[in-house]
Amino acid sequence: MSAKIISGVEIAKQIRQELKDEVKELKDKHGVVPGLVTILVGENPASVSYVTAKQRTAHELGFHSIQDDQPEDISEDELLKLIDKYNNDESIHGILVQLPLPKHIDESKVLYAISPDKDVDGFHPVNVGKMVIGEPCFLPCTPHGILEMLIRADVETSGAEVVVVGRSNIVGKPIANLMLQKRPGGNATVTICHTRTRDMAFHTKRADILIVAAGRPKVITADMVKDGVVVIDVGVNRIGKTPEGKAILCGDVDFDAIKEKAAAITPVPGGVGPMTITMLMKNTVQAAKQFAGLV
Ligand code: NAP
Repeated sequence: MSAKIISGVEIAKQIRQELKDEVKELKDKHGVVPGLVTILVGENPASVSYVTAKQRTAHELGFHSIQDDQPEDISEDELLKLIDKYNNDESIHGILVQLPLPKHIDESKVLYAISPDKDVDGFHPVNVGKMVIGEPCFLPCTPHGILEMLIRADVETSGAEVVVVGRSNIVGKPIANLMLQKRPGGNATVTICHTRTRDMAFHTKRADILIVAAGRPKVITADMVKDGVVVIDVGVNRIGKTPEGKAILCGDVDFDAIKEKAAAITPVPGGVGPMTITMLMKNTVQAAKQFAGLV
């Protein structure tokens, strides 16, 4: 059996078209243009490429979007003042501070300074808390994207054994939490594995749905999964360069071997990655609608 490939590229394309239509309607009927600012501190090449992709998508969807580049040596105080400026800017509905920040800046302090109403990354404790108790809020983009992929690929989550590998605040913990919630894409029985898990294969072999966010190339091998599993591979690992200097990427699972056993699997690249940016855009449209009192 060869697995169905769940294409994040295709699903993201559908959602972006829906968003484009929604943005046009918001503009035409209500005069509302979603506004997104991405704040980049320093010139970390990976961060530059992430922010550029976010800005490109925002432009394509018809947003008012601003890329605010700040020098590596900006002080914490100056950065907090900048956030305050955008918190009070009525043309901006979403504020994204690209992580990681330089070491002299307290990341939590910066993230907590963003108004929860403009926290389109879903990292503010107010949004995290609302997510945990199942209230409407901005969901963090990568887990939100995974949920959307599962729903749109018709993967049954209710009653499923879900195993998540990884317990970070941006992927592992929130996706585990979302899959527990009483709503579509939820109602699963969830296990979380991490580096202190005694026998990871014992857990992964039980999984109907396996979500891997460890950041370790091919940490999940074919002997660790059962036939018919659905695999969501979140990992993005740079394992070398092509002769042209382009990064060679691989996920956290042994894709070639596992696709022969799985019912469905996401590729890397082209799986979860495109969904993350798309959900950022979805959150920004939601923020604009909330600001305009339309929801
Ligand atoms: P992270 O903060 O480094 O967390 C990794 C987690 O995996 C930790 O909880 C760690 O356990 C666990 N882990 C690491 N090696 C393990 C092993 N051998 N066995 C079991 N657990 C292990 O990483 P992250 O930010 O969640 O990101 C994870 C991966 O997803 C990275 O490759 C990242 O680039 C990728 N990512 C992709 C997207 C996207 O849009 N495609 C978005 C976010 C992240 P401990 O807690 O015990 O250390």
